[in-house]
Amino acid sequence: MSYYFSVFSIFLALSWTHFAQPFVLPKLPYAYADYAPYIDAQTMEIHLTKHHQAYVNNLNKSIEGTAYESWGIEEILLSVTSSQNDFLRNNAGGHYNHSLFWEILAPKTRQGVICDELLKEINTAFGNMDSLRKELNKAAMSRFGSGWAWLMVTPKMNLAVVSTANQDNPIMPVVENPGIPILGIDVWEHAYYLNYQNRRADYLKAVWDLIDWKVVGEKYQLARANRALLDRLVSRQKRKKKS
Ligand code: MN
Repeated sequence: MSYYFSVFSIFLALSWTHFAQPFVLPKLPYAYADYAPYIDAQTMEIHLTKHHQAYVNNLNKSIEGTAYESWGIEEILLSVTSSQNDFLRNNAGGHYNHSLFWEILAPKTRQGVICDELLKEINTAFGNMDSLRKELNKAAMSRFGSGWAWLMVTPKMNLAVVSTANQDNPIMPVVENPGIPILGIDVWEHAYYLNYQNRRADYLKAVWDLIDWKVVGEKYQLARANRALLDRLVSRQKRKKKS
């Protein structure tokens, strides 16, 4: 029995190292149709299984056989520069950004309550929740072409709203204002075209109804506790100021 078990374990271990892809597509916490009517089931399915899957596949392809294979996603994001490897930059960003997006969305009946710490900080930084919504919408609407609007924790532990192009995000050194994103809104047309066509404002109104503030609150706590990452962002800012 134990002999077969060990042989089986060794086989499993070998096949895992041989076949395992470092990054995998996450599962959605809810069914595609649960996000309707705000985002339709077909958009959810295509967005996850075609768009996000392509980022995962290409990310794995671009790191295969390189030192990046053993790196975490944040470490990879921290390493991308404007002059090298846009393929890695776009696909690492695509994977990270969408993973966050799926986590913070939930059907209305499944959404939890925001923690006091984040609510207090939003009131301090923006005045109230509605002003934050306006800031995020402004960032999302003024993003020309494809990109993201973010709520993030800055290296000084404040909240800020920023927007980035394509699949960039504020962890990347190519982005001017660094931070750890705790909420991201995908404003690529593939996120809304089937239901809203070119009406980005209508999509933004709808997606607001899907934000699970309990999860965003948890992201806020995690970001503030992630001293290692915040320190990396601080030292990058210092280096930039010097040069
Ligand atoms: Mn997308």
